[in-house]
Amino acid sequence: MSTATHCPYCALQCATSLTAGPSGATTVTGRDFPTNNGRLCRKGWTAPELLTAPDRLTSPLLRGEDGELHPASWDEALDRVVNGVRAAQHAYGPDAVGIFGSGGLTNEKAYTLGKLARVALRTSRIDYNGRFCMSSAAAAANRAFGLDRGLPFPLTDLDRAGTVLLLGSNVADTMPPLVQHLSAARAAGGLLVVDPRRSATATLTADGAGQHLQPTPGSDLALLLGLCHVIVHDGLADETYVRDRTSGYPSIVRSVSGWWPQRVQQVTGVPAALVRSTAHQLADAARRGRSGDNGCYVLTGRGVEQHVDGTDTATAAINLALLLGLPGTPGNGYGTVTGQGNGQGGREHGQKSDQLPGYRSITDPAARKHVAAVWGVHPETIPGPGLPAVEMLTTLGLPDGVRCLLVHGSNPAVSAPDAGAVRAALRRLDLLVVADFFLSETAAQADVVLPVAQWAEEEGTMTNLEGRVLRRRRALRPPPGVRDELAVLADLAGRLGSPVPFSDDPAEVFAELARASAGGRADYSGLSYRVLDDEDQPAFWPYRAGSTGTPRLFLDRFAHEDGRARLVPVAVGQPAEALARDGTVALVSGRLLEHYQSGAQTRRVRELADARPGPELELNPVTARRLGIPDGSEAEVSNDRGTVRVHVRTTRQVRQDTAFLPFHFPGSANELTSVATDPVSGMPEFKAAAVHVRAVPEE
Ligand code: SF4
Repeated sequence: MSTATHCPYCALQCATSLTAGPSGATTVTGRDFPTNNGRLCRKGWTAPELLTAPDRLTSPLLRGEDGELHPASWDEALDRVVNGVRAAQHAYGPDAVGIFGSGGLTNEKAYTLGKLARVALRTSRIDYNGRFCMSSAAAAANRAFGLDRGLPFPLTDLDRAGTVLLLGSNVADTMPPLVQHLSAARAAGGLLVVDPRRSATATLTADGAGQHLQPTPGSDLALLLGLCHVIVHDGLADETYVRDRTSGYPSIVRSVSGWWPQRVQQVTGVPAALVRSTAHQLADAARRGRSGDNGCYVLTGRGVEQHVDGTDTATAAINLALLLGLPGTPGNGYGTVTGQGNGQGGREHGQKSDQLPGYRSITDPAARKHVAAVWGVHPETIPGPGLPAVEMLTTLGLPDGVRCLLVHGSNPAVSAPDAGAVRAALRRLDLLVVADFFLSETAAQADVVLPVAQWAEEEGTMTNLEGRVLRRRRALRPPPGVRDELAVLADLAGRLGSPVPFSDDPAEVFAELARASAGGRADYSGLSYRVLDDEDQPAFWPYRAGSTGTPRLFLDRFAHEDGRARLVPVAVGQPAEALARDGTVALVSGRLLEHYQSGAQTRRVRELADARPGPELELNPVTARRLGIPDGSEAEVSNDRGTVRVHVRTTRQVRQDTAFLPFHFPGSANELTSVATDPVSGMPEFKAAAVHVRAVPEE
């Protein structure tokens, strides 16, 4: 018998069928679904190997007095957690305990982690790795539209697009089945890719399929201001839309007035003529879209968002889209391509430091009252806002910092910026607890490791990049010794003396989550497992009680009280550090086709590990020659934060002032990235670090 579920990895959440064979092996096939049409990428095809990986954890581990991890019973492990929590909170107060969650967890687990923090632990210190992923785009969307749903339209709307401006998103590697939805735009010559690197997605623009705009790292905002400048100066804005549906136009005119294409060329390296022609191409497509076909879409990804000015850059992309009249206009659109599997749901249900379920602000008295009533507690007992991820992680073990940290579904020892400093911070903790299925680099530092069920062994829901809520279904039982994570959290809440019960039943947790979300920005109150199991009824949120889903947002009004979107003026500021000076090159971090996030899962899949066993530094041949580094040789990449040794692959895909390093491996990009953060979103600067690259002399 096969089980209809979804891939464990990225936000496309491709639909799959899993069949558990008598020998214990599980096979996967792609299932027909609007987003993937039966297709899977290499990661999805090989995902079942995770279930039987030989180094899978099947027993809790406790660090002994000898400094080593030893198998233990669940009672011993959870007692150690409870004792550690109590000791830390007794000595230092409630905020001495923190939770670090994940955009890969089901909605039910994300919700339960938020409730565990605020109700059972009474701590404000909870945040998650989505802070490293979607926070800038989310902050910009909330600011402009009053609501943040990655794609506010079904992905299949792209099938009729004439022009797609894709900023900083390498979907051809990160989520290959999405590329089929770009076919019409490519056929029309309308795929416009902005990326400092000639990525796999940028190469899709070859042979007349579109254009690749290749700005210097960190200059995306200037490019967007230049595009807005041409739209305004050449009279290309949709005046009716701007007048009827937005506010703030005069301030935008002023803010973009100085960004002539020639100046944009000086700052970004993108030819002025290309800036101008791109703006005109977008405006032409937007006009066509308004009359029903071959419209215009602007989509952003992490490449433009993971900067200290990420929120402002995403805001500039939204300003461009609003000037063109795209958001909420059928046939046109603006959105952001979410990365992690539950990157969308992960930011809606309360595991973010400043949020309560339903994507509500934790400082909103009405939201606190509503959620407190669902939880059965007094609103005043819910702590206020905590600290965003970077601040929480870098202050671990310091005065006023967290002393006892629970990590669920994340591997910050590899995936956090300045990972060496984060590993040192983890070592300062009194107690580190990690729930995972493998001994990740973070789990290897833990005092308590809790082995939990994987994707194919659990029930739950995920919310994909379109805001479509999907059912994850159990195809097989977890191995002996492994427990369902929801059951572990419920057990822990009980042992901690929670004043209210925690359910370990996913359907019950979802029903509670739906009640908690009622009236919030991400409203799931009309959803249940019964509704979700009927896939003929697509479940796009908001899905209010007594209503149906909302595939397309903003058709009549935006979510701000006056119904208008905000045009918000933004300006180019100072980069986190000076790039391409004193012999440095700009390091861009990113993803590979074969790996996902920190690689804790995909590095254990033989086919993927064989194809990409470790990090390679991509360097332009001219730069490599100047530095005396032959192709294939080893190089040392360093800055104040760290030093890594990697093999070099010379390629013209990167600019001469740039180097590219994937972050899926220990000892790779995040040893060098910076903890400087965007002041609005808390997003770290992942995409532009100044590094020295030197040849390693042969021994
Ligand atoms: Fe689909 Fe993403 Fe899974 Fe690949 S990794 S099969 S694109 S969900």
